[in-house]
Amino acid sequence: MPNQTTGKNSRSASGRQKGSNATGAVVAQKKTAGRSKSTHSTKTKQNKSKKAADQNSSPLLRVIPLGGMREIGKNLTIYEYGDDIIIVDCGIAFPEENMPGIDIVIPDFSYLLENQDKIRGVFLTHGHEDHIGALPYFCRDINVPIFGNRLTIELARIKLNDRGTGVKGVSLHPITDGVVIPAGRFSVEFVRVNHSIGDANALAIRTPAGTIFHSGDFKIDYTPVNGEPIDLSRIAAIGNEGVLLMVCESTNVERPGYSTSERKVGESFADLFAKAPGRIVVATFSSNIFRMQQIFTAAEKYGRKVALVGRSMLNVFHAADSLGYLSMRSDTLIDINHIDHYDAEEIVIITTGSQGEPMSALTRMAFASHKRIEIQPEDTVIISASPIPGNEKPIYRVINELFKRGAHVIYESLSEIHVSGHAYSGELRLIHNLIKPRYFIPSHGEYRHLHKHAELAHEMGTPWENIFLLNNGDIFEFASDRAKISGFVPAGGVLIDGSGMVDIDHPVLRDRRVLAEDGLVAVFIAIDRKTGQMIGEPDIQARGFIYESEQERIIKDSQKRIAHFASKAGEGKPLSDLIKSRSLQNLLQDFLFERTHRRPIVVISVIEI
Ligand SMILES: [Zn+2]
Ligand SMILES: [Zn+2]
Repeated sequence: MPNQTTGKNSRSASGRQKGSNATGAVVAQKKTAGRSKSTHSTKTKQNKSKKAADQNSSPLLRVIPLGGMREIGKNLTIYEYGDDIIIVDCGIAFPEENMPGIDIVIPDFSYLLENQDKIRGVFLTHGHEDHIGALPYFCRDINVPIFGNRLTIELARIKLNDRGTGVKGVSLHPITDGVVIPAGRFSVEFVRVNHSIGDANALAIRTPAGTIFHSGDFKIDYTPVNGEPIDLSRIAAIGNEGVLLMVCESTNVERPGYSTSERKVGESFADLFAKAPGRIVVATFSSNIFRMQQIFTAAEKYGRKVALVGRSMLNVFHAADSLGYLSMRSDTLIDINHIDHYDAEEIVIITTGSQGEPMSALTRMAFASHKRIEIQPEDTVIISASPIPGNEKPIYRVINELFKRGAHVIYESLSEIHVSGHAYSGELRLIHNLIKPRYFIPSHGEYRHLHKHAELAHEMGTPWENIFLLNNGDIFEFASDRAKISGFVPAGGVLIDGSGMVDIDHPVLRDRRVLAEDGLVAVFIAIDRKTGQMIGEPDIQARGFIYESEQERIIKDSQKRIAHFASKAGEGKPLSDLIKSRSLQNLLQDFLFERTHRRPIVVISVIEI
């Protein structure tokens, strides 16, 4: 447990008193041989002279993540200096198992709403959902300029338009690699990186307190498709300027070595396309335009036409194509409605559903509920994606079904048809080596990823006391040449259910969890309006509670309990008041638990006749 080790400067470095933040961000606390002293002492001198210049007026630099810490998803980081705030990314997370009926989770914007007048802009690193998906909710309440590379902005535009009213008039500013945007006392430089989507950027954020390098999602690909490799020379130059803080993604920190180039997937496609006897169906992430390009390239090589299926696939295709990011012959793309005009061996279909999403095109094809395409025995289906961890079941369910229909199914464990878009530990080491940050915050990962990344940073020379494992909402503060965690802001996820917003403890969600686990018992009691007495026996209906064999007996006994309860009503209050006072509900709940060890939701309806 390296984070728990008491080091010489642990208290002062972390600024963390025990229990100061119940959510528990911990600073790595270990004394260590520091990084090359010369680099840091030069930087310290610079910082000191800067501080002397504006000793009294020097504001605090704060970094506040509202998402992306100890979780994968809803990335949003606030950088604040005095009266200026900039926001990096504004993403969503997908709901967890304890959130039945929830569609997505977005960051809690309350700190930003309170400080709206300080916000100078939103800077987007790339167009994935976990980085731009919450923009429609953010832009409903906060109107600030949004900057991002061209594909990123095009995808943000589609997203904002998609949700219709309330998000009109957002000022979207497409930029290109290398551009520097001034924003209050910040300036933000967009640095080209490789990732599983085009136009991905790291950000060099310059502040009067020093430079911050925010990696965004990235990998190092020396032979990318439709684009250039990551701008390592620029990253090295930024590192040589001196970097106060690096915030770097941690997704693949557990994987040793280096990620494979996207180009490798193209070679695998070519091999598969050469052999496939009938139609080829490729399922992939719609946002991966490089994958899309490689499918087009392989299709053209083997004389096939390409049809696209799925709304998000078409959206991303049009966004990328309008920017000239895809190259293909004009007659290669055909409408899905025209695939019957061609022989099976002349067709490639690119579809959504690589994660086995229940409503996706691939799932519907597999279960024969797609209105245009039915899987046939000669079809080859390529799942060009790896299951998102924890999501293996749905995708294997689809794969099983595809095999049952006689298709040839190619998926990751059988062939090299997918590569990751995130840096492996070897690549992370290179970035640490080039940037040489004074402080380091690992981001974009579950706790174990952040922990591993902290170890890696330490191995690369960053002292433990300069490594901060933050929680969402923690305030990392740098002032007087020292960093600490100074407090926290609200940062629980906000759950989006249809058009409504709730929090995780909302009674509706609690009820859904109980309904899913223990079911429902509904009791209907008729009461004579004149006498106040119960008429006949109460009607009891149970759903999802217990099996029929036991049900009858329990219902009979419950009716007896209710009758007993009703018989005593005359002695005090009227029966209907007693029932409304929940005492009957409590009695039934206790009785049902006693008998079944389940706690169903008990709903009592009184009908006065
Ligand atoms: Zn990404
Ligand atoms: Zn991401």
